[in-house]
Amino acid sequence: MPDPLHMGPFWRALIDFFFPPKCLLCGKSLGELPDDRPCPLCLSAIKFFSHPRCPCCGLGFGDAPGEDHLCSGCLTDERYFAQARAIGPYEGLMAEVISRFKYQGASRLAKPLGTLLAAYQDPEFPFSRFNLILPVPLHPRRLRQRGFNQALLLARRISRVHSIPLDFTALQRTRLAQPQTQLSGAERLKNIRGAFEVLRPAAVADKKILLIDDVFTTGATVQECAKVLLKSGAKRVDVLTLARTL
Ligand SMILES: [Zn+2]
Ligand SMILES: [Zn+2]
Repeated sequence: MPDPLHMGPFWRALIDFFFPPKCLLCGKSLGELPDDRPCPLCLSAIKFFSHPRCPCCGLGFGDAPGEDHLCSGCLTDERYFAQARAIGPYEGLMAEVISRFKYQGASRLAKPLGTLLAAYQDPEFPFSRFNLILPVPLHPRRLRQRGFNQALLLARRISRVHSIPLDFTALQRTRLAQPQTQLSGAERLKNIRGAFEVLRPAAVADKKILLIDDVFTTGATVQECAKVLLKSGAKRVDVLTLARTL
């Protein structure tokens, strides 16, 4: 069986005949559309952050009128990342798809979700700014349990689409922190301190790094990653995730 992502036109046609292209998010037939994207209905069900928002962490302030302004978190806490952005809030279809992607081993969702993330457009956050992409690493034990690092699958797609080099070994997760879900923001920061290590500082030195993860929750994880990367000589670290919890 050829690699389904790189098969020739004959195999493609044969497989399309028996298995018509379906939306990889909802399973509805796509007809003539290529199958590496969500169907128009799914796309319309995904909520996107817009203005006004926090220029630092990208948090959207909903439909409230007004100018962009720093959120309370960015006003009070030290931020190690330069900017963070998420496509939209972690709710509805987006939340459902991400949890399928992560916990049901649905690595076939990597391509549509990676494509969605790579299509992110924001004049204040151009992909051309970056010369290195890093996924937030999983601890080796977690990686064995899950079988794949969802952040790496997303990062790989962005690296291909935007021709930015990807490095998934320079930054490592060396300590397995206790599960974060029950912890508050401050507790998460403490819990995750010292969990990451830059194994090859030369690989990140002077680089403008795009750090990729699936969900931005309190930001504690990406903050800690950005901190160790800057300490190892990175020029700046920005964060892009599929969704952000509110
Ligand atoms: Zn769909
Ligand atoms: Zn903010």
